[in-house]
Amino acid sequence: VAAPQDSYKITLLPGDGIGPEITTATVKALVAAGKTKGVTFDFDEQLLGGCAIDKEGTPWPDKTLKSCQAADSILMAAIGGPKWDGNPRELRPETGLLAMRQQLGLFANLRPAKAIPQLLDASSLKREVVEGVDIMVVRELCGDVYFGKPAGIYTDDAGVRWGQNNMIYSEPEIERIARVAMDVAQKRQGRCCSIDKANVLDVSQLWKDVVIRVHGECGQGVELSHMYVDNAAMQLVRWPKQFDTIVCGNIFGDILSDEASMLVGSLGMLPSASLPSEGPGVFEPIHGSAPDIAGTDAANPLAMILSAAMMCQYDLLQPDLAKLLEDAVEAVLDAGYRTRDIVNEGNADETLVGCKEMGDLV
Ligand code: ATP
Ligand code: MG
Repeated sequence: VAAPQDSYKITLLPGDGIGPEITTATVKALVAAGKTKGVTFDFDEQLLGGCAIDKEGTPWPDKTLKSCQAADSILMAAIGGPKWDGNPRELRPETGLLAMRQQLGLFANLRPAKAIPQLLDASSLKREVVEGVDIMVVRELCGDVYFGKPAGIYTDDAGVRWGQNNMIYSEPEIERIARVAMDVAQKRQGRCCSIDKANVLDVSQLWKDVVIRVHGECGQGVELSHMYVDNAAMQLVRWPKQFDTIVCGNIFGDILSDEASMLVGSLGMLPSASLPSEGPGVFEPIHGSAPDIAGTDAANPLAMILSAAMMCQYDLLQPDLAKLLEDAVEAVLDAGYRTRDIVNEGNADETLVGCKEMGDLV
């Protein structure tokens, strides 16, 4: 939105697996936060993913697109599951996700990985390595090898099969994500590390050149560095505190953001934002639909609640609401409440709770 409002239209996409459970918990927390500031929400629940395939015969129904386009923002849970894994490509939940990203122009994926003091023991790395980690991965989401044409599996005249995907980036595509990264870095600690494989890939050389140009144009106060992706993967586990903002292409970002998220422990704690140049963004937890625990009230809703906080900050221009939600999550963790995924067995100060209760507590 262009300016803060009293009321917002939110498209809700509960999706599959644990999605509906964590959505219920999140909506409750968001509405409660809004109430304290006189802000209300008008939710429009729509289908995306496996549930849409089952009910509408497509993972990304037209009606869902229309609702998203008319919304101030989009709050999504998680989609997919083994039920649809063997489907032809057009009937896979992930196909709906890619279509949504393309049609809403969601080119900038922001994924914070911030160490949570109460959960430091959940990380597999040493405390001294993880304590104080605060990274934002800015991943390009609409280009790269996932979308480069031609793509497919071909058989040549000799009967040999070839699989092909192309890593392609245009200068404008690199420029717009680089601008987002500079903006993000300016609002954080002012350090931006651009990831490439320019020693081997031409497309990466262009990436690097354009990032350097954009930094010169709009990166005042930002210290820019460059790192090859293989080194970055290594440095992330060696000494993650060296990073503030990381900017990268789609596939490098896919891998590095998953890696960064594991530095700080549970999948069930991490939010994300996907933003377009204009129009509503999509806010969702980074974890999947966790079909193994769906329907058992064991899911951790905090990643989605923190996604709602990012929505308040980036799309709704309500930083106070974002802070309120984040503080509430912190308070609940301070008080020792844990869902099963973040419980530290044997710690008498911790209380195991389910998804619904966790939402109520927040
Ligand atoms: P996707 O392909 O959709 O990313 P995935 O195969 O990576 O899915 P997830 O669905 O994210 O897997 O689940 C991985 C593991 O983490 C599962 O054991 C799941 O139960 C657990 N998990 C994921 N999210 C949560 C959550 N919010 N609360 C508790 N456990 C979770
Ligand atoms: Mg996954």
